[in-house]
Amino acid sequence: MPQLAQRMGRAKPSAIMVVAETAQRLKAEGRDIISFSIGVPNFLPGEHVYAAARQALEADSGQYGKNRGADAVLDAFIGHLGRLGLDGYTRANCATGVGAKHILYNLAEALLDEGDGLAFATPYWTSYMDIAEIVGADIQLLPCPAEQDYKLTPDQLDAALAKKPKVFLFNNPSNPTGMVYTKDEIAALADVVVRHPDTWIVTDDIYNMMVFDGVGYHNFVHARPELRDRVIFVDSLSKTYGMPGWRVGLMAGPEVVAQAVTIMNSNHITSLPEVVSAAAVAALSGPQDVPVERCAEFQAKRDQVVAALNAIPGVVCPVPQGAFYAFPDISVAFGKSHSGKVIDNDVEFCAALLEAKGVACVPGSAFGEPRGLRISYTCPTPQLAPGLARIQEFFAELS
Ligand code: PLP
Repeated sequence: MPQLAQRMGRAKPSAIMVVAETAQRLKAEGRDIISFSIGVPNFLPGEHVYAAARQALEADSGQYGKNRGADAVLDAFIGHLGRLGLDGYTRANCATGVGAKHILYNLAEALLDEGDGLAFATPYWTSYMDIAEIVGADIQLLPCPAEQDYKLTPDQLDAALAKKPKVFLFNNPSNPTGMVYTKDEIAALADVVVRHPDTWIVTDDIYNMMVFDGVGYHNFVHARPELRDRVIFVDSLSKTYGMPGWRVGLMAGPEVVAQAVTIMNSNHITSLPEVVSAAAVAALSGPQDVPVERCAEFQAKRDQVVAALNAIPGVVCPVPQGAFYAFPDISVAFGKSHSGKVIDNDVEFCAALLEAKGVACVPGSAFGEPRGLRISYTCPTPQLAPGLARIQEFFAELS
């Protein structure tokens, strides 16, 4: 029998989906499950998005669209960039994709030859590792533990870029930690980046509208505009606009990179569907009250989550200032037992918590930090307090 390609030996299904599916199965079996596992926003976009999609359906041309993305989508995205203070981008700097994941995959293929260096911080969003492995990148991990608030320091970045990776992949706000870099922190990192001209910077900022405490969203290009030639900004409608299933990803960067993504599109997907494009234009250029209101709601939930976790003796949860995740260090539980079973690591911790208390979380090792645990707090608000109470009970019962 013929064999699969060697790269399939490096590709594996998403660890996050495995937990989500176990939780769904237990629920279907009648168990009372509270899921803090999957990172879906749990709200829908405004009616104007559906109205635009319906209108596009009525007027459907049945044709392929442009490989780069419809002009109207690119223009609406350029307007969104302007609201973020990222001015001066033209259609030639931008491209669309089937979600940010697809944009990131296209960028990996467009920027990295097999064996090229790719640097990124841990904890990282799971797919960074998977995509890097599929394209055969030489991965350089930059450990950012809870003791440094899961944030990369300028010295760490300097040492990493001195090894001349082809790409540095940055994520702000972060999935899985919810950490947000302040204006000064971004400025300090940008100063380092300026000194290393051989590296592309891919900045995955898809949670840019979900930032709390007035910290604001800051990008390397805000700090050092001359980096525009090397910084590739990645965005998505999935999280901030409550549209994960619509699959809209966007990028802005140097023309040569946007053109490369356009060429990849011409070979992979041809174009986004017309109806999806109409919905994207409405989301990006219509009223912005849904993302703004949801951000305020997530900030209140964040307060509840962090207070509950930091009240558990030995658990350390740096305060997230964006997205909808918390990432406590739960290593205090390792070596202890629950219901007669010893918990040796994060995976066993998550399995025991799900079994004993019906609470689903994702083990930190899925993000390269096995001392952690990701809590996605997008569940309906009434489930939040009981879910957190169950986690507290679980810790109290450890012996
Ligand atoms: N980047 C980060 C940091 C994410 O958390 C996710 C989704 O969870 C993505 C990219 C992919 O988003 P999309 O739904 O647009 O493919």
